[in-house]
Amino acid sequence: MPYSWTSPARAPQFSTRAIRAGRAPEIDSGALTPSICLSTTFAQADIGVPGAHTYARASNPTVATLEAALGALEDAPPSVCFATGMAATTTLILATAAAGDAVLVSEVVYGGTARLLERVLAPLGVRATFVDTSDLRAVSAALRSKPKLLFVETPANPTLRLTDVAAVADLAREAGVLLAVDNTFLTPLLMRPLDLGADVALYSTTKYIEGHNATVGGAISARDPALLERVRFLRKTLGNIQAPFSAWLTLRGLDTLALRLRAHSRHAQQVAEFLAAHPAVARVHYPGLASFPQAELARSQHRDAETGEALHSGVVSFELRADLVRGASDGGFAAGVRLARAVRLATLAENLGCTQTLLTHPASMTHADVPQARRHATGISDGLIRLSIGLEHPRDVIDDLAQALAQVAVGDEVETTAGIGEAVARD
Ligand code: PLP
Repeated sequence: MPYSWTSPARAPQFSTRAIRAGRAPEIDSGALTPSICLSTTFAQADIGVPGAHTYARASNPTVATLEAALGALEDAPPSVCFATGMAATTTLILATAAAGDAVLVSEVVYGGTARLLERVLAPLGVRATFVDTSDLRAVSAALRSKPKLLFVETPANPTLRLTDVAAVADLAREAGVLLAVDNTFLTPLLMRPLDLGADVALYSTTKYIEGHNATVGGAISARDPALLERVRFLRKTLGNIQAPFSAWLTLRGLDTLALRLRAHSRHAQQVAEFLAAHPAVARVHYPGLASFPQAELARSQHRDAETGEALHSGVVSFELRADLVRGASDGGFAAGVRLARAVRLATLAENLGCTQTLLTHPASMTHADVPQARRHATGISDGLIRLSIGLEHPRDVIDDLAQALAQVAVGDEVETTAGIGEAVARD
């Protein structure tokens, strides 16, 4: 009898799916942890009688296991996995738009997405229009130009501006425009875009899904078989499928996604509260803070799939008070650079969603290719710091930030806060 992990009584919970969906003990060995299949090619029974896999650029058993697992998290058919998140984004846009077509995109998106649109796709004739997708009127007006795709990133990297996915899904449906949501920051644990009306949920699995800073990868989830087929065709043609070993590591990460993401979220909340109370900090952007301008939307849109608790993932961004930073005569940029140099535990690096706490200076790193005028107009100031809060003890992360802030800031107010992490961090 085939092994089954499903209960006939009711649909399995998120954690159960994350660990069991798509995986079964292997028929020959009984191995419970899936094997890594490295074969490039697969024997065919006869001319015209291929098996499930033919050639590893088209599909592969280990990648297929990950795809079944990811699809199950969103009650969707198997997802389509890519070599990187950017490969997923590129393939999605090529699947939906051609020369002469327009794509509507959130004005704040990962810098690589903006670079793809402006430096690679625009010269090929695919026009990108950037719009503030948190402004429904602006979205509605922009949809009148009949773009082929509305591509939303929420929370946006790195300002954490939110887009109301259900509301833009209604607008996109009325306009007959496909809606894709880059759900990298939240994962299906905290938001299921397809349930909110989006056609596509897109992931950089490099971040929380794999979660250990050990792979790059991407995924597209959708419920329309024709769209998935088109995306698979392009992947086979472009040759940007995920490698089997990366897929295997990503499956391993998926097992603990719910546990990790809840901890990332709780730690980030504590760090955000510490920063918000710090005199050298001008502004903190974190959807879990009462002061966050879209706190209400955050509470309704970001929900733990099992507990219903409002959780907001692990990215916090903030700006320093330039007047309190030693030698920061140009305001933000020098302030950001000084803080980046002063941290000890947090590591200056370009990633997020992994176990280690990372600090990024978007203006000089992830978003350096976004023109400065657009960065400034959309809230990515030169002093903005992005933190990806890891799984270290939050007290240690807060102590580190406290000592770094004390190093870069002037004034009695700031010097006295050096040990504040002790008092603020909860276990
Ligand atoms: N989407 C978001 C929100 C990201 O932050 C990133 C990378 O930082 C990507 C997509 C691209 O993913 P990858 O680095 O796996 O290509």
